[in-house]
Amino acid sequence: MTQNLKLYINGEWVDSSNPEMQDILNPANQEVIAKAPKATKEETKEAIKIAKKAFESGVWSDRTPQERAEVLLQIAVKMEENLDELAQLEMRNNGKTLREARSDAADAANTFRYYAGLLNHPDGVTYQATGDLQTMIVKEPMGVAGLIVPWNFPLLMSVWKIAPALAAGNSIILKPAEITPITAVKVFELMDQTDLPKGVAYLLMGSGSIVGQVIAESDDVDIVSFTGSTGVGRNIMQAATGNLKKVSLELGGKSPNIIFDDADLETAVDYALFGIFMGAGQVCSSGSRIFVQEGVYEEFIEKYVERAKRIKVGLGNEESSQMGAIVSEKHMESILEYIQIGKEEGAHLACGGNRILRDGLEKGFFIEPTVFTDVTSDMRIVREEIFGPVVVIQKFKDEAEAIRIANDTEFGLAGAVFSKDQNRAMRIIKKVRAGITWVNAYHLTNVQAPWGGYKQSGIGRSLGTFGLDEYQETKQININLDPKPIHFFE
Ligand code: NAP
Ligand code: MG
Repeated sequence: MTQNLKLYINGEWVDSSNPEMQDILNPANQEVIAKAPKATKEETKEAIKIAKKAFESGVWSDRTPQERAEVLLQIAVKMEENLDELAQLEMRNNGKTLREARSDAADAANTFRYYAGLLNHPDGVTYQATGDLQTMIVKEPMGVAGLIVPWNFPLLMSVWKIAPALAAGNSIILKPAEITPITAVKVFELMDQTDLPKGVAYLLMGSGSIVGQVIAESDDVDIVSFTGSTGVGRNIMQAATGNLKKVSLELGGKSPNIIFDDADLETAVDYALFGIFMGAGQVCSSGSRIFVQEGVYEEFIEKYVERAKRIKVGLGNEESSQMGAIVSEKHMESILEYIQIGKEEGAHLACGGNRILRDGLEKGFFIEPTVFTDVTSDMRIVREEIFGPVVVIQKFKDEAEAIRIANDTEFGLAGAVFSKDQNRAMRIIKKVRAGITWVNAYHLTNVQAPWGGYKQSGIGRSLGTFGLDEYQETKQININLDPKPIHFFE
C-alpha cells in the first residue's frame, strides 16, 4: 500500500485541508512510492504563526547552547541509527545510487553532530572600548526561519539548513521540493522522538508557488534560506522585500575545471569525471565546464571519453551501478533538449547524448554520460546550467586565457585547477571568482568549510561557523562601568 504522507504542524502529523495529493515517484522505475499532501496558503500562514509564538515563548530560543546541543546530538544519534533506511529512502525518491545516498546520510548525521559541537564552544567577544565602557558582542536567534530546499540532495540540503537554524535557537519551517519529500519526512519523524520542544519545527509539503511563496513573503518569517535555481532565487529575494527579511541563497552554477599541460593527467581525468557525473550531474557545484590546455587537449579527450563511455549507469540499488537516474521525466526532457541544442550549435558530441532504454532501465529516466568537445564560450550549452550528466570541453592556450574563459559566466559557485606546479595552481585558483574551489581535486569538502557562491550563485554561506552566523542576529551590549551624569546638555 502506498503511504500517505502528512504535514508536521505544532508537533502533530496532520492531513492538509486540501484533498489533492501528489504522487511521489521513484525515478528509476516510475513506481508510486508515496502520496504527499499539498499544503494550502492558509495552512502555511497558520504554521508560521504558531512557529512565531513558540519562538517568542522561549521554549527553544531561551535554552542554553548546551541544552540545544544535547537535542542536536539526540537527532544525530537517531539519524545514525537509521542511516540505512535514510539512504534507501533517498535512493528511491531521488534516483541516485545507494553508494551516493549512503554518503549523504552519513554527512547529514554528521552535520547535526558538528553543530552540537559548535554550540559547546564558547562564542562572543567582550572588550573594554573606551575607559569605562565595557562592550559585549552576543549572538541571538533571529526568529522564524523559512527553509526551502531542492530535489537533488533532498536529505542533505534539508539538514544543512535545519541543523544550524535549530542550533541558533530559531523556529523552523521546512519546505522540501514537491517531488522529493520522503527523507525530510523521516528526519521529522526522528526529530519528533527527541526532546525538541513541540511547535518549534514544521514540515510543509506543497508547491513552491504556494508554500514557498507564502514563506518568502510572510512578515512573520525573519530569514528565508533557499537552495535552488538562480531564477527562483531572484523571485525569493523580491518576495522578501515586504518585511526586509534576511535572504540566504545557494543557487546554480556552471563551474570551471581548468587542466594544465603539466597536470597529472590520470588524476585530472579521474576528478573531471567525478566532478560532473557524480549525482548524474544534478549537483550545484558540478565541474560542468572543462578547460584543457592545448598541449594535452587531444590526449585528455581521448582518455576522458574512453572512461566516460565505461561508466555503468543503472538502478541505484545495484552495487555495480556507478551513476543513477535523473530525478524526473520533466528534468530528463530538459537535459535532452540541451543535448539537442548543443548539436545544433555545432559542438562535437564525443559520446553519449541519449536516453537509456535498455532492459531494466526502460521505465526509468536515465541518460548516458555525455561529452561535448570543441565548444566555444558563446554556446548555450557552455553558458547555461544544464544540471545533468553533460559536460563541455574547451581548449585554451595560456594562463591568461584560462582565467578569462573560466570567469566568463554569470555564476560563481565552484572551480578547480589541475597542475603539478603549486605556484601556478595558486595563481589561477585565486583568480577564479567562485566560493568553493579545489587544487588537484574536485567535490571534496567538509562540514567546517563555508559553502556558497560568488556572483549569481548566491548570497551568504552554509556550513561551518559561517552557516551558524547566517541564522543569528548580532547585538552589541555596552555597559557603563562608571555610571554618573555626563552633563552633555549643561
Ligand atoms: P528550484 O526549481 O529553484 O526549486 C527549489 C525549491 O524552491 C523547491 O522546493 C521549489 O518548490 C521551490 N520554489 C519554486 N518556486 C518557488 C517560489 N516562487 N517561491 C518559493 N519557493 C519556490 O530548483 P530545483 O530545480 O529544485 O533544484 C535545482 C537547482 O538548485 C539548480 O539550479 C542547482 O544548481 C541548485 N542547487 C544549488 C545548491 C547550492 O548549494 N548552491 C545546492 C543544490 C541545488 P517545488 O519545486 O516543490 O515547486
Ligand atoms: Mg523546480
